[in-house]
Amino acid sequence: MTNDAEQAEIKLVSLVAPVYNEEANLTDLVSRCVAVGEALDYEYELILVDDGSADSSAAMIQQAAEDHKGNVIGVLLNRNYGQHAAVMAGLAQSRGDVVVTLDADLQNPPEEIPKLLEKSVLGCDVVGSVRMNRKDTFFRRSASKIINKAVQKATGVMMTDYGCMLRAYHRNIVDAMLQCHERSTFIPVLANTFARQPCEVKVAHADRSQDETKYSLMSLINLQFDLLTSMTTFPLRLLSVMGGLLAMAGFAFSLVLLATRLLYGADWAGEGVFTVFAILFIFIGVQLLAMGLLGEYIGRIYHDVRARPRYFIHKVVGA
Ligand code: UDP
Ligand code: MG
Repeated sequence: MTNDAEQAEIKLVSLVAPVYNEEANLTDLVSRCVAVGEALDYEYELILVDDGSADSSAAMIQQAAEDHKGNVIGVLLNRNYGQHAAVMAGLAQSRGDVVVTLDADLQNPPEEIPKLLEKSVLGCDVVGSVRMNRKDTFFRRSASKIINKAVQKATGVMMTDYGCMLRAYHRNIVDAMLQCHERSTFIPVLANTFARQPCEVKVAHADRSQDETKYSLMSLINLQFDLLTSMTTFPLRLLSVMGGLLAMAGFAFSLVLLATRLLYGADWAGEGVFTVFAILFIFIGVQLLAMGLLGEYIGRIYHDVRARPRYFIHKVVGA
């Protein structure tokens, strides 16, 4: 942590959990979160966002809001929008000086929340968490590893574990995220683009207590694309680079063919078949290059459409 870490003043803490068909976990979740909240030195609110569950989750959330009036708030979405959209809805509802997000399936133990808040108070505006002895399948863990490395490269923010949703954000970070109007978001990455003082804590990771993950392979793939496109338009530029390289290679090849033909006569080079290839490479290269150029424009349109805040002021002094 840097020297100019400022102690943040916290009055209210918001806990935000997206809920999708979690009826088996909800009772536990609410009682554990309420227990943690009551024990805090701050006021707290628990915001449960029902992401269009097909089971009795929505009804249970409404009941919890009745039972814990003033502390539990239910936000019910009309249909399933996905985890990150649901969290966004929760963030929009939250009023806390610090907002903590966590999964509703109890894989993130609510008892770890005070650990995150300790860091928040010390001035970390984004507190991430690293899952100790993660309880997921080997496939999920290896996939996460690769993705984490890619995210670190692309964002330049060294966080060990982008997949873990148990995170704490200062109010100004939450407000900045709410100003971003893109449809596909990956919240941990978005938050880090605004972070001034990110830090991490180690947290426990529990088995999925009840059923299976809510993510099918297809929705995992979709999520990775969201992650990639939310970070960078570099893949579009890759087209131009590849096209340029290919066109140059084709051109070099044709020069080599010309030279060998002059040296060894027309019999060489498969009666012109090689020449056709050389010309083909050049054309394909030029086509990719043109597509890459189109991509550049699309990338710019994409950046403008997202209308992210151009910069993010941490604080103005002496005004
Ligand atoms: N979730 C959601 N909408 C969805 C899928 C999941 O709100 O479309 C919630 C889910 O209820 C849970 C969290 O997102 O609270 C993480 O989901 P899950 O545990 O299935 O993901 P995993 O732990 O496998 O990453
Ligand atoms: Mg989970």
